[in-house]
Amino acid sequence: MLPQWIIEKKRDGKALEEREIRFLIEGYTDGSIPDYQMAAFAMAVCLKGMNADETAVLTDAMMRSGEIIGPDDLPGVKVDKHSTGGIGDKISIPLAPLAAACGITVPMIAGRGLGITGGTVDKLESIPGYRTDLSIPEFKNVLKQCGCSIIGQTPELAPADRKLYALRDVTGTVPSIPLITASILSKKLAEGIDALVMDVKFGSGAFMKTEAEARQLAGSILQTAERLGRKAVAVISGMNEPLGRCVGNALEIGESLEILNGGGTNDETALTLELAKQMLRAAGKPTKAARDKLNDGSALQKFREMVRLQGGDLSAPRPEASRKTPLPALASGFIAEADAKKIGEAALLLGAGRSRTDDRINPAAGISDLMKIGEPVDAGQPLCLIHSDDPAKEQEALQLLGDAFRISEKEIEPPPRIRDVLCS
Ligand code: URA
Repeated sequence: MLPQWIIEKKRDGKALEEREIRFLIEGYTDGSIPDYQMAAFAMAVCLKGMNADETAVLTDAMMRSGEIIGPDDLPGVKVDKHSTGGIGDKISIPLAPLAAACGITVPMIAGRGLGITGGTVDKLESIPGYRTDLSIPEFKNVLKQCGCSIIGQTPELAPADRKLYALRDVTGTVPSIPLITASILSKKLAEGIDALVMDVKFGSGAFMKTEAEARQLAGSILQTAERLGRKAVAVISGMNEPLGRCVGNALEIGESLEILNGGGTNDETALTLELAKQMLRAAGKPTKAARDKLNDGSALQKFREMVRLQGGDLSAPRPEASRKTPLPALASGFIAEADAKKIGEAALLLGAGRSRTDDRINPAAGISDLMKIGEPVDAGQPLCLIHSDDPAKEQEALQLLGDAFRISEKEIEPPPRIRDVLCS
């Protein structure tokens, strides 16, 4: 078998056999198949697609490209959550300890921010001392002690995805439902989970722009997880407006603590509770615990425990920007639009995100006090606060943010954040 024969077969729109897909992934992982052939293969898949059987084999082959945490390596029912990414999406941070407080084991391997969407790992690293680079034995140890651990991607789990995702990022081959499905599921299933709850987002600040695209991706993930013997649930949620009032790494840790203290915005708290309920349902546990454990402080306690076990110090001051500049409203009325894409671009420009994987971020940079759709506003009142260390970047961000908001004279009903829940 030669790699080019498999590439040609996919180029001509034919379905691949299991042994062909495994040959490609194994060869790419051990270095015998070069980047240029894998890039051609990824482009062929982008253009011709893959059926459900091929997608499941691709996911399984990528999952088996490295170490797999076994079902008996961790105690209890293991459930994780993954979001396709959005602006101000800090939900994993309160959710993992909330689910752990309800008796679920949550082995969460999270990502870094790239482009306008932020990453949970960058946010947690703004807590002084917090280690996201635990080894697999350290990860298992934290999980055994407190029931949840959030770390960054490790070289041991699903290395084929790590290599292939970096290649897709620079070859125009990210937007492909089978490739995204295999990428997300291979690393999540290698965590040894019994079930996965997906938050599939759509809107200006998300990867998927329309609800129809989000449903298509959710369908592919549910079907593939089921074929590989795991339960999966997908929550379809809107991302035309950022979640909560803060975008930026240290700022979002502050807001995560507010959620855990019972003070989050309605959209954040509702999404955290819905995802927690779906995790509990998938684990076969009563869903009422989600609200109880958030209200009685157990989830906050779990978060403190996880941070301490991973070397973090919540009592130490988090990074803070030297400048905080308000963006004044130009008219009175009601917030009709707070465009997630433009707000994400402004945060990226301020240094809260990275345009290339090797860029350094400024953990203090970002935007806080964002007004939410439907809220009344008076002319001159701040629509948000810009946190920056650089006056030139702040000016550029002010311009972008000025375009992000639209104010209406008429009252506005905020659109529902959660659109649907799909089960496999
Ligand atoms: N997130 C991933 O982990 N992989 C993709 O391919 C796209 C988004």
